[in-house]
Amino acid sequence: MFVGHFALGVATKKLAPTMPIWILFLAPQFMDLLFAPLVAIGLESFEPGPYGHLTLNILYTHSLVGALAIAAVAYWIGNSFWKSSRGGIILASLSFSHWILDVMVHRPDMPILPGNLGNFPLLGFGLWDFEYGVFATEVVMAIIAVILYFRWAQKEKQGARWFVGPAIITLFFAVLIISDIRNMPAL
Ligand SMILES: [Zn+2]
Repeated sequence: MFVGHFALGVATKKLAPTMPIWILFLAPQFMDLLFAPLVAIGLESFEPGPYGHLTLNILYTHSLVGALAIAAVAYWIGNSFWKSSRGGIILASLSFSHWILDVMVHRPDMPILPGNLGNFPLLGFGLWDFEYGVFATEVVMAIIAVILYFRWAQKEKQGARWFVGPAIITLFFAVLIISDIRNMPAL
């Protein structure tokens, strides 16, 4: 799931008018951004597969405690760079929203403690078994996010080029959605 995470970030633009769109866009993906270097050093891994059928070893970045720690860093970033605890709260919420969305769609592969210390049961409600339903939900989320962002920009941005930012974001969603469609398992 990429589209849904990015969509949540874009949809919050109105709540955080002074924060640049790129940070709102990235904040819901901090956990996956950290996943990449951990894969590089071999702590986490994945086996590619069709949409909704990845095999993931994400015992650190996607552990509940890991997600909370990453959200704490997100809070710090928002607080220090945008000089408001509101900015911190928004980035932390977006960052942690990743864990909530993932726990709904993943099959059980998300631990409570990093490295699955204590061997507690892994979490994940497995909605990815209904991959077409999840995908449709992601597309709807992206459409709503883009509409909200266009409306915000039209109202708040001065000048004739108000639509450039939202148009770029729309294009990005379109590319992601098309690549997901190409990667859908056969019906
Ligand atoms: Zn994730």
